[in-house]
Amino acid sequence: MLSIRGLYFDQSVHYREDLPIPQPASGEALVRVKLAAICQTDMELIRGYKNYQGILGHEFVGVVEESSNPELAGRRVVGEINIGCGQCSWCKKEVPNHCPYRRVLGILNKDGAFAEYITLPEENLHLVPDQVTDEEAVFAEPLAAALEVTNQVHICPADQVAILGDGKLSYLTTQVLALTGCALTVIGKHRVNLEQLQEYAQVLHLDELNGFSCYDKLVECTGNDQGLRLAGKLIKPRGTIILKSTYAGGAKFNPSDWVVKEVNLVGSRCGPLDGALRLLENKLIQVHPLLGKRYTPDDYLFAFSMETPGSNLFSF
Ligand SMILES: [Zn+2]
Ligand SMILES: [Zn+2]
Repeated sequence: MLSIRGLYFDQSVHYREDLPIPQPASGEALVRVKLAAICQTDMELIRGYKNYQGILGHEFVGVVEESSNPELAGRRVVGEINIGCGQCSWCKKEVPNHCPYRRVLGILNKDGAFAEYITLPEENLHLVPDQVTDEEAVFAEPLAAALEVTNQVHICPADQVAILGDGKLSYLTTQVLALTGCALTVIGKHRVNLEQLQEYAQVLHLDELNGFSCYDKLVECTGNDQGLRLAGKLIKPRGTIILKSTYAGGAKFNPSDWVVKEVNLVGSRCGPLDGALRLLENKLIQVHPLLGKRYTPDDYLFAFSMETPGSNLFSF
């Protein structure tokens, strides 16, 4: 049997050259991974989030090598990462993201994209327009997650909106929300990152915060308790807090501010890939500052440990 190279996680990361090439199940395509990006979720999985075992990686762009669908064969694709069971009420409502039996690429019971090949259901695959480079396409999945905010919450130009955090998801969310014309402020603690965000929003360093209860809507992208506490202070009464982070170690904070202010809370996860690709195709979103260094998978120790403002990438 053909073997492939990839990064297998089993309590720790192992570089392997003996992984079996994945066999497409019925309705699935075989995709050769070109580029895959390391995401904060990968780092959390490595720290024990979800007790994952298998090949990591869920942000990728690749080429379809085998498919029964002639429109897909040989084409460049990105993929929806949630795979529903196809039978339950959520799947029947076409919301496989919430299928209780779902598998998730590189996150839950489905080998991921830090390997030469993956399989995914054909219906999960989206063709990448020619105008979108591999380096842009590899960010389609997190960009779709940023777009989910505008899918869930109506943001108007009159709104005062804050984004907490200045990492990758914040960078993408900032550009998406800037398109709505709202009065947008990004609050973070990394001056280098904030400088890059100045192009799209007003930026504030944590040390410069000068008022509470100032925002109608607030997107929390910090992934830590401090961000959750601050969100409660900064949101206006009856405002909406959108939570984009997951918390590998849980979070300890007092939600009283949220209760007293009668705040609306919206959990927010994966979003529409077709919309993300369209924004990239129309050059409405810049990803350059997010591009970290490129590594081959055997250099994974460097790839996982080298801190860059964006995402390090694996190329195959
Ligand atoms: Zn991710
Ligand atoms: Zn289902």
